[in-house]
Amino acid sequence: MMVTDIETGTGSLIKNLTCPECGTVHNAEVINTVCVNDACRSTLFATYNLDAGLDKSILLKRPANMWRYKELLPVLDEKNIITLGEGFTPIIPIENLKQFVGDNEVFWKDESGNPTGSFKARGLSAAVSKAKELGIETIATPTAGNAGGALAAYAARAGVKAIVYMPKLTPQVFKDECRLYGAELVAIDGNISDCGKLVNELALQNGWFQVSTLKEPYRLEGKKTMGYEIAEQFNWQLPDVIFYPTGGGTGLIGMWKAFNEMEQLGWIGSNRPRMVAVQSESCNGIVSAFNAGLPVSEFADGGFTIANGLRVPKPYADRQILKVLRESNGAAITISDHEMSAALKEIARNEGMLMAPEGAALWQAFKKLKATGWIEAGEKVLMINTGSGYKYLENIDIY
Ligand SMILES: *Cc1c(COP(=O)(O)O)cnc(C)c1O
Ligand SMILES: [Zn+2]
Repeated sequence: MMVTDIETGTGSLIKNLTCPECGTVHNAEVINTVCVNDACRSTLFATYNLDAGLDKSILLKRPANMWRYKELLPVLDEKNIITLGEGFTPIIPIENLKQFVGDNEVFWKDESGNPTGSFKARGLSAAVSKAKELGIETIATPTAGNAGGALAAYAARAGVKAIVYMPKLTPQVFKDECRLYGAELVAIDGNISDCGKLVNELALQNGWFQVSTLKEPYRLEGKKTMGYEIAEQFNWQLPDVIFYPTGGGTGLIGMWKAFNEMEQLGWIGSNRPRMVAVQSESCNGIVSAFNAGLPVSEFADGGFTIANGLRVPKPYADRQILKVLRESNGAAITISDHEMSAALKEIARNEGMLMAPEGAALWQAFKKLKATGWIEAGEKVLMINTGSGYKYLENIDIY
C-alpha cells in the first residue's frame, strides 16, 4: 500500500516479510498470515531497510509510547496508528528484597501499566493498526486472557469487529472486559489449543483475519519494542540476563529481533543478554525441549495454572523460541503455582507491585538460578513483569 500523502507518512523502513526458516520473501503491502511454503508455514519476520542506518537522536522529541520507534514498525500512514499510550513502561530496581539480590543489579520492566493491564497491548496496537491499514474489517483470536482484552480495546478504537475465543476457566474479569469493549466473546470448554483450532476453522469459513500468536506477522513487531526500550532506557547497554515468562513466546522472539535490528542500525554492539524462558510446571513444553536438546517442543498440558498466559501447550513458534534460547546461551526453568503465588505476595508486600502470576514467577526463577551460580557476581538482570495482578485475584489466595 503506497502512502501518497507524504505529510502523513510514518517513515517506516519496512521492506518485506521474510520467512526465518526457508527464506521465502512475502510482499508486506498485502495481507499475510504465515509462510506460504506448505512445508514450512513458519511465522514471518518483518524485514526493514536498516543498512542506511537511522540516527537515534530522532528519539529525543518523540512521545513516550512504543510508536516512538515508528520507522521500525510496519504501519506506513500515521492516520492508521491505533494507540492508547502503550509502551515506554518504567524500569524499576528491586528495593526491599535486596537480601536475595546480593551483588547483582536486578530490575523489573513493569508492563502492568499498559492499556488493558498487560504487554499484550503492544502487540495488538501494532497488529490492529496494520490490519486497519490493510482494510481488514473482522479480527478473531484465541486467547488465554490478556490478548483478548487487548484485541477488544484496540478493535473498538479502530472501529473494527473483534471476536474472542477464551477458555471457560479463565477468571471472569478477562471475559467481562472483552464484552465491555464490544467484542464478541465465546467461552470454550477447553484450553487455548482448542480455542485455536476453532478460530482456524471459523476464520477460514467466514473470512475473518486471525491474530493468533505468531500466525500473523505484526503482534511480534509491537512486542519487539520492549527490546528497543530496554536498550534506550539502559543507555544502549543491554543487561546480562533477561527473564521472560514464556507462553507463545512473542516477547522473547521479539526482543531478540529488536537487538539484531539495533545492531544493524549501529545503535548497539554485538553483546547480547542471556535469555531465560520461565514456564509453569503444568505446561512445560519449551523447558523440556530445551533441556533435551530438541529443535521443537512436544504438546504439554498438565491442566490448570493460575498463570493462564503460560498455559500454551504447544507454541506455534516453538522452533524460534528454542533458537533464541540457544543462540543467547540462555536457560529454561519451570515454576509451580504455589511458588508463583508466594512470589506474588512477597513482591506485593515488599516492593509495592501487584504482579500477574506470570511476572511473579520470574522472581522465583531468578532466586533459583542465582542459587545454582548460573547468574554470576555483578551481573545486571532484568525481569519482564508482563501484566497486572488485578485481573487474577479470584485465583489468588490472599491470606
Ligand atoms: C500472554 C502473556 C504471557 C506470555 O506471552 P507470550 O508472548 O505469549 O510468550 C506472559 N504473561 C502475561 C501476563 C501474558 O498475558
Ligand atoms: Zn518458510
